[in-house]
Amino acid sequence: MFTQRIYNFSAGPSMLPLPVLERAAAEMTNYAGSGMSVMEMSHRSKAFKAVFDETKALMREILSVPDTHEILFMQGGATGQFAAVAMNLMGVTGRADYAVTGNFSSLAAKEARKYGEVHIVCDTSDKNHTYIPREADLTLSPDAAYLHYCANNTIYGTEWDYVPAAPCPVVADMSSNILSKPVDVAAHGVIYAGVQKNMAPAGMAAVIVEKSLLGREMPITPTILSYKTMVEKDSMYNTPPTYNIYMLGLVLQWVKEMGGLAGMEELRELRAGMLYDFLDNSSLFTGCAERGSRSKMNVTFRTASPELDAKFVKEAASQGLVSLGGHRIVGGMRASIYNAMPVEGVRKLVAFMEKFELENK
Ligand SMILES: *Cc1c(COP(=O)(O)O)cnc(C)c1O
Repeated sequence: MFTQRIYNFSAGPSMLPLPVLERAAAEMTNYAGSGMSVMEMSHRSKAFKAVFDETKALMREILSVPDTHEILFMQGGATGQFAAVAMNLMGVTGRADYAVTGNFSSLAAKEARKYGEVHIVCDTSDKNHTYIPREADLTLSPDAAYLHYCANNTIYGTEWDYVPAAPCPVVADMSSNILSKPVDVAAHGVIYAGVQKNMAPAGMAAVIVEKSLLGREMPITPTILSYKTMVEKDSMYNTPPTYNIYMLGLVLQWVKEMGGLAGMEELRELRAGMLYDFLDNSSLFTGCAERGSRSKMNVTFRTASPELDAKFVKEAASQGLVSLGGHRIVGGMRASIYNAMPVEGVRKLVAFMEKFELENK
């Protein structure tokens, strides 16, 4: 049992900034003199409308979303967007390009196959998804309705350090690295993110969609997944996840106070640098991803044996460094170090790894 907050390295749902949780707690039963919790408010009320508008405006400001793009809050998480992207965009040519660099991009491609022809422009499973392909190696098709890639591979710990250029709209799953560094929104037709990694509690996807792409959806598209309808209804075709939107607003305010995306990028470089520097000099632990492809959000590593890995995860947890086990499909360890992970948490983790290495040589 812990009597204090601990360092939670979970890949998602994951840590939220402490000031955000404290503010939400303080406002829990009586939001801004409304006499009620945000959870209890009508989504049509004046008070909630203000929360909603402010959250959207902050997201536009912090991510520098140009006027050419709309911001949506949708339910169904990132997985819902696997279908939404295909149904909203694929109909144009009946064909889409997918870069497969891990589990989620593979699932996205699988979902899209229900609605049209999927062309795989790269598949990094040849090396167990330990690398990101070079741009020149992507075999783009001439008539794809869009190119889909997953900007950060949460499970394998790799991250694209470029936006792939394509003759069609580019769609990115940014679930696990959105808000961690500046992003060229204009280079994308659609950006989506399940919010439970870097944005808010689980239960919603944040979507940025280029206006010129609206209205291309297949007739069978469920209304709730239609970007056009959701834009027309300002994400309120039905009751939106109101509390998630409020929490996202608090997180965005925190990001802004911390220096915006430049501030977040500085912190992510610092956290990831500490861990990778240690891994590169360790005789016990090895990083899983290739150097040029390493994720600064999810650091994957292992020892020489699954038994020692298990011992590490267990002993770390007893020290208040929890959820360090790798995803069940890859094993080993994974430290998810999203925006809300304090630098101190990574310092403690590295110190524990040093100690564990000495004790288990
Ligand atoms: C977590 C994650 C998903 C799945 O998100 P859900 O909200 O659970 O559907 C998809 N893509 C990436 C990159 C993720 O990290």
